[in-house]
Amino acid sequence: MLKFDLVVVGGGTGGSVTADALAKVGYSVCVLDQKTREEMGEKVCGDAVGKHHFSSLEIAPPKGKELDNKILGIDVFSPDSETVFKIKGEGLHGFVIDRLMFGQRLLKNALDKGVELFDRTLVLEPIFKDGFVIGVEAKNFRENKRIKIFGKAVVDASGMAAVLRKKMPIDWGIERKISAEDIEICYREIRETKKSIEDPTFLKIFLNQKISERHNWYRRGQTAFADPQRLNNNKVAGWLKLILLLYGAYLVFRFPFHEYFRQALYPKL
Ligand SMILES: Cc1cc2nc3c(=O)[nH]c(=O)nc-3n(C[C@H](O)[C@H](O)[C@H](O)COP(=O)(O)OP(=O)(O)OC[C@H]3O[C@@H](n4cnc5c(N)ncnc54)[C@H](O)[C@@H]3O)c2cc1C
Repeated sequence: MLKFDLVVVGGGTGGSVTADALAKVGYSVCVLDQKTREEMGEKVCGDAVGKHHFSSLEIAPPKGKELDNKILGIDVFSPDSETVFKIKGEGLHGFVIDRLMFGQRLLKNALDKGVELFDRTLVLEPIFKDGFVIGVEAKNFRENKRIKIFGKAVVDASGMAAVLRKKMPIDWGIERKISAEDIEICYREIRETKKSIEDPTFLKIFLNQKISERHNWYRRGQTAFADPQRLNNNKVAGWLKLILLLYGAYLVFRFPFHEYFRQALYPKL
């Protein structure tokens, strides 16, 4: 039987740091993630992170290829872009990082301390006994079999998926579902720019519907992250954006697009 002191579901930022911290003080820990080990840490993200997080968690700050840029503050542009508020100070110092390399480092820190990784393992259900969560049931795609893993404690670090949290009994008082009004759909575009970015040590936030429409689709917020070293990378094709938006809308609203298209194409079926 697979048994650990701590079972961590999800090896993103939260899961990797938790596993690392508990393994460091001598607990036996495992991390389960649906991704392959090589994919873990990859995420649609603004890639900006405050310096204080590294000091408070006692993690070495990023360097080398993991560090894209040091950040000293934020330029906030007014809706007409005429006024720029420069916000700076020690509390706003931070980094633009390579998200995948950062995630891989956090994971490696944990694995180096003896944490066991089950990658390509999709967690399906919590296992309950006598009013406690004592483990999880998962599908391990590496070995193509269902497994059960038990722990003295189980951590749900599956992020937005909340795979365990949403299956907790109602009377435990745990918020199970994030309401639709608290969810926003985002995608990220990396664009080539004709002009070089003025002062890349300052992130730029545009409170401008026109700019934000082109850079990000946020329901309310209008944030565009300038990532100077990566702006020369690939572009996202229009159709890909559409697919991402439809998929995002499907995930959030469960709108049955396939039914809609089927009825449009084959109305008599
Ligand atoms: C568009 C966008 C921009 C952002 N920009 C920034 C930014 O600039 N700076 C910043 O600090 N934060 C940013 N964030 C927030 C940041 O990415 C999250 O706060 C952070 O990733 C949360 O970490 P986590 O470990 O809780 O979840 P995640 O990083 O989402 O990790 C969850 C892990 O669980 C795994 N998982 C999920 N379900 C299952 C399952 N059933 N079985 C097994 N594994 C599972 C996933 O594969 C994943 O590896 C941004 C987020 C978004 C969406």
